Amino acid sequence: MAVKPILRLGHPVLRQVAKPVKPEDLETVELQQLLEDLIDTMRAAHSTGLTAPQIGSSCRVYVAEADDSPRYPNLGPVPLSIWINPEMSVFPVSPTVTMYEGCLSVPGLRGAVTRPAHLRLRAVNEHGQVMEQEFQGSAASVVQHELDHLDGVLFVDRAHPQTLSFVEELEQFVPPEERLVIHEDAH
Ligand code: ZN
Repeated sequence: MAVKPILRLGHPVLRQVAKPVKPEDLETVELQQLLEDLIDTMRAAHSTGLTAPQIGSSCRVYVAEADDSPRYPNLGPVPLSIWINPEMSVFPVSPTVTMYEGCLSVPGLRGAVTRPAHLRLRAVNEHGQVMEQEFQGSAASVVQHELDHLDGVLFVDRAHPQTLSFVEELEQFVPPEERLVIHEDAH
């Protein structure tokens, strides 16, 4: 068990395009160790998702897990899942979701990001088995946020600039119903 430090905005690893995991690296001790570190660190940070670059390993891996977190009230419980070399495809006619996002690598800050609200994610797990799942609404936002990490992109790059806000100010000045908005008519 190892809880790793989480890299913060400004660390160059967060800006690298992460490398795919090779098939021969699945089920190795090194990958198993990375997955354990990711899961331990995610749980210690009370987060719903964490990517390998955020703990300094520039490879295309992310883990997700959620209980009924008040931070993402519409996410619902998510069983522990491991996504290796994930790729997403957005549905052709997708609504959009605008959600105030936060990030362990940008502590204290939130900002509204507009993204497609309906996508399919495909990846392999640590045994090389193909996994596929559809995500909608805020869950689709979270998936895209995590995939961005694998391409060196942070939510502050995508946030509507004037919505950037510290958590306390967000809670004070932005009513809850404006923190997550789904537009059915645009894509
Ligand atoms: Zn993040």
